[in-house]
Amino acid sequence: MREHDVIIVGGGLAGCRAALEIKRLAPNTDVAVIAKTHPIRSHSVAAQGGIAATLKNVDPTDTWEAHAFDTVKGSDYLADQDAVAILTQEAPDVLIDLEHLGVLFSRLPDGRIAQRAFGGHSHNRTCYAADKTGHAILHELVNNLRRNNVHLYEEWYVMQLIQEEGEAKGIVVYRIRDGALDVIRAKAVMFATGGYGRVYNTTSNDYASTGDGLAMSAMAGIPLEDMEFVQFHPTGLYPVGVLISEAVRGEGAYLINSEGQRFMETYAPSRMELAPRDITSRAITLEIRAGRGVHPDGSAGGPFVYLDLRHMGREKIMSRIPFAWEEAHRLLGIDAVVEMMPIRPTVHYCMGGIPVNTEGQVRRSPDSLVEGFFSAGECSCVSVHGANRLGSNSLLECVVYGRRTGRTIAQYVQKRKYPEINAELYLQEARKRIQDLLEQTGTIRIGHLRQQFQDCMTEHCGVFRSESVMKEGLEKLQQLKQQYNNIYLDDKDQFWNTELIEALELQSIMMVGEIILTSAYQRKESRGAHSREDYPSRDDGNFLQHTLAYYSSAGIDINYMPVVINMFEPQERKY
Ligand SMILES: Cc1cc2nc3c(=O)[nH]c(=O)nc-3n(C[C@H](O)[C@H](O)[C@H](O)COP(=O)(O)OP(=O)(O)OC[C@H]3O[C@@H](n4cnc5c(N)ncnc54)[C@H](O)[C@@H]3O)c2cc1C
Repeated sequence: MREHDVIIVGGGLAGCRAALEIKRLAPNTDVAVIAKTHPIRSHSVAAQGGIAATLKNVDPTDTWEAHAFDTVKGSDYLADQDAVAILTQEAPDVLIDLEHLGVLFSRLPDGRIAQRAFGGHSHNRTCYAADKTGHAILHELVNNLRRNNVHLYEEWYVMQLIQEEGEAKGIVVYRIRDGALDVIRAKAVMFATGGYGRVYNTTSNDYASTGDGLAMSAMAGIPLEDMEFVQFHPTGLYPVGVLISEAVRGEGAYLINSEGQRFMETYAPSRMELAPRDITSRAITLEIRAGRGVHPDGSAGGPFVYLDLRHMGREKIMSRIPFAWEEAHRLLGIDAVVEMMPIRPTVHYCMGGIPVNTEGQVRRSPDSLVEGFFSAGECSCVSVHGANRLGSNSLLECVVYGRRTGRTIAQYVQKRKYPEINAELYLQEARKRIQDLLEQTGTIRIGHLRQQFQDCMTEHCGVFRSESVMKEGLEKLQQLKQQYNNIYLDDKDQFWNTELIEALELQSIMMVGEIILTSAYQRKESRGAHSREDYPSRDDGNFLQHTLAYYSSAGIDINYMPVVINMFEPQERKY
């Protein structure tokens, strides 16, 4: 058995920022970060458009209160407003701190950090490094971990959270390089495992975004909050689903249907292309349904609409959003200076997650906590995004709540002893789980089952939902779950067995998918990203509450938790 004072699962922005904070406040603390990828290959590295903060460099009239209001309105009033106040008040400070760490932000002519427009934000407050913002930030953070002697476990897969009697004690780990199994015990365990885009068949997320941290928490009896709120980003490149950043519209691009019309004037006349993502994704889906989408041959009635950058000119495109141009050129051979890009909504972000308080401590129920367990970043739900996240608020959440959670842990471990664990028991279980998978003599390929599951989620729990469609989806999921016992692995080796990792990840995908669909089925209203055709209105009387889904082998129980409303009373949401 290994041990560290603190073990952080996840080497993205949230995990790295927390580790750095612990080392700053308590340099003698033994901190380890573990990731199934190399840390700088975490999905954070792919973040493009930017990070919001009221620096007032471009718009001196901006305030943190305006940022808070935009965030709460964007969330369709489901965000906890105390958490939003912290997010927006601390934003300028964490941003300047990133700059001092060495992050190379894009500049205004006078040398200050540049800020651009973003969907749902009423002021120009999104800071950026061209359209490679995540890359710029994550590289500096990972460098700083090395400088601060944080122990890095690269390419280790975490299989299980060890939780006994309401206390997190450690994790079970599998070294991908050689198949070694181990237990790591810790005085504090933190999950910063990112999102679950791979639960769906079309996503902007990387291959590692399989929701493992969510599944491991659910398995340990911890509830998952607001999982029905899945963000579809309006502009995924057709057909691959790769993201074309919202910064492209922030810099002035248009959305155009088969009739050449800027159709957002029908759906959000005052914000046009810069309406929040839920509204824009629905608008695109409705245009396509109404026959105003486009086919690859240019005729009407097809599966995508256009993103038009042509009026922006080569110089602006190449200096502000070069990566978007590169992606369309690399993947589809399109020159966006003279041609329009085909786009449609793609699964992008997980608003829900592991419930935490504003100190990053994980909740066991609405009014109790799990000892020794913390979480931040996309896998957590604090909840600053409620039913719909605004662009550039997620990187911000990772650094604000990564820092806060690090601060909490730095104090927490000082008075903790190492927990007692019967490591052999957990190792035996893990060994058996792997052995069973390797020896299984089924006929179904992992890729085939995963595809069927992802297609089912996309078809039955997409941009628009209804009771009958979701009910059918839940029935299909049960059948697909049965087939898991019939999968077959070609690779029986212990070295670099990526097929085995895919089999483990598929378990996470299936569990998370079932929780999403069940939570969505129970929420009989439309709010933010959750849009029910059979309940088209928001129902504050019954559903201005957070969902808490408890997983067990017997099924999923749904409970609810109040929303913190202490600044802005819910209003009708119009743009
Ligand atoms: C293409 C794209 C562009 C985006 N652009 C923006 C943007 O411009 N602005 C913005 O605010 N947000 C953006 N987002 C969202 C934002 O990037 C993410 O929400 C955020 O980076 C998540 O960071 P994280 O630290 O929570 O997790 P991640 O960066 O996803 O890291 C997760 C970590 O957990 C590890 N992990 C997971 N499971 C296991 C396991 N079982 N064992 C071991 N390790 C594990 C992974 O290896 C990884 O290190 C974008 C997202 C995408 C997909």
